Amino acid sequence: MTFISSSSADDETKGNNVIQESDNSLTKQLVSERIRSRLIERGVSYFANDNVADHIQPDELKELEKEVACRFNDLLKSLVIDIENDHNTEDTANRVARMYIHEVFKGRYHQQPRVTSFPNVKKLDEIYTVGPISVRSACSHHFVPIMGHCWIGIKPGGRVIGLSKFSRVADWVFSRPHIQEEAVMILADEIERLCEPQGLGIIIKADHFCMKLRGVKESHCTMVNSVVRGDFRHDSSLKQEFFELVSQQEIRNNYL
Ligand SMILES: [Zn+2]
Repeated sequence: MTFISSSSADDETKGNNVIQESDNSLTKQLVSERIRSRLIERGVSYFANDNVADHIQPDELKELEKEVACRFNDLLKSLVIDIENDHNTEDTANRVARMYIHEVFKGRYHQQPRVTSFPNVKKLDEIYTVGPISVRSACSHHFVPIMGHCWIGIKPGGRVIGLSKFSRVADWVFSRPHIQEEAVMILADEIERLCEPQGLGIIIKADHFCMKLRGVKESHCTMVNSVVRGDFRHDSSLKQEFFELVSQQEIRNNYL
């Protein structure tokens, strides 16, 4: 069995984090350190809401999951929880590591879902909107959920993509630690890259659990923000049409 040690005082002096095999015969650099060195060497940003999948080798994700589990175990220990004997938390670290890497933060570690785009042969140029699309994210400041919906409006340009692809791309973008103001811009960049629209509008309406669960504990307060690009930005009647179409697509159930 492999375990990852917390860095000892000795390791600190060497400036090394190490993974130790159970027989202590093998030491090597932590996988997160290897990935980080690669990112720095390539000059790639690795903020919480960046995707770094291109810089992780296929076999490293499993290793990363183990490292995160080990670190989360340390966190539970620091919270003075008896993980040795508490049947409820004995496997929590592994569960959380899997959840972070492959579910709630998969948009950092996994590639964008495949989206096939097609040339806009018929030269479609009427606006359409898609929504509500579920927003499931986490706030970068507190790592608690951001839950809500978004709406995407398109005036088609060079290429078109299937309706369901907007949901897939949005889910991938939102599955990272975020602040809502930046999430809407990142999603807009991805949609623009995929279908080169003449006009693009996105609205996000979301509940921030860092305001509900803690702090001011405002249970009914939501955040709404939007971005408009291309023709939606320059033509106020198109922008208005976008907001009017979205108002027809009401939310039926919160978070569903
Ligand atoms: Zn927060």
